[in-house]
Amino acid sequence: MKINSGYIVPSCLFNLVFLLFSNSYCSAWGFFAHKKINQFAIYTLPPPLSGFYKDNVQYLIQQSVAPDKRRYLIPSEGPRHYIDLDSYDLFSLPIFPLCLDTVKKWYSDEEISSFGILPWNLMKETDKLYWAFYHQDWSRVLRTSAELGHYLADATVPLHTTSNYNGQFTNQYGIHGLWETSIPETYFDHWFLTTGPASYLEDPNQAIMNLIVNTNSLVDSVLEMEMRADSICLGRKYGSKTRSGRTISSYSERFIKIYYKQLDGMVQRQMKVAIKILGSIWYTCWVKAGQPALPDGWKVQKEGKSRGNSPSKAIQGRDHE
Ligand SMILES: [Zn+2]
Repeated sequence: MKINSGYIVPSCLFNLVFLLFSNSYCSAWGFFAHKKINQFAIYTLPPPLSGFYKDNVQYLIQQSVAPDKRRYLIPSEGPRHYIDLDSYDLFSLPIFPLCLDTVKKWYSDEEISSFGILPWNLMKETDKLYWAFYHQDWSRVLRTSAELGHYLADATVPLHTTSNYNGQFTNQYGIHGLWETSIPETYFDHWFLTTGPASYLEDPNQAIMNLIVNTNSLVDSVLEMEMRADSICLGRKYGSKTRSGRTISSYSERFIKIYYKQLDGMVQRQMKVAIKILGSIWYTCWVKAGQPALPDGWKVQKEGKSRGNSPSKAIQGRDHE
């Protein structure tokens, strides 16, 4: 946690807010949104790829949250979900690193695991999907497709690209879950998420870097709009809600509504970006692998088992991704 690096948050306020919100943002985009992104990406695919993915829709939905569940058990999982672009100085390097080995020439292992590896993990997973199609290893195709969906979705969340990932440096603690969980859960039914068909990507790695940079360009607005909503809300920022039979403190409905209005559709737009690029990467890997014939009516045999999603276990690393 970088909470103490030069920024003063009153400790009693910090403890209170931490306790209030620690259970509500334990997943990037929230499990709800991750599942929807994987599901809607299937609708972008052309036949025959669409048929194969539709036959396995339940698995793709279920497995979309597996990477977040792994974070309870595996410390090295956490950095795969984010990148602090402001902690790295990637654009001033002699060459832009398109793989983790190149990053290691300039940054220590400790720095890398603190700053995150999201784009390079995405590139690796994309490569894995290509080879799975190439070898017609259908179980691996589905598992990698589902998990790629998770990481790509993370890459469309602005607060996954900055060291101020939960507003802890700007006295906006809790903003992470507000943006990526509370808003989708509250407004999803009003959204129109059709994106048009998946596109072929000449250079998927470049597309991934472009995605990260575009996502990062929204960080200032995410923070600024929250401050503006706070000033409009006039002290009625927090309330309570019931989750899994328990009453927990959260942002008030009024505040969520005001913040949502200030964001002017940003969360919905980012969700569509996630859906479109996910479908495009699935499609591109299949095309680059030579468009192998897909097994008609084939379904993955073993549903992915939940691993380590015990509420009693603490997440290894950051508490919000
Ligand atoms: Zn994640």
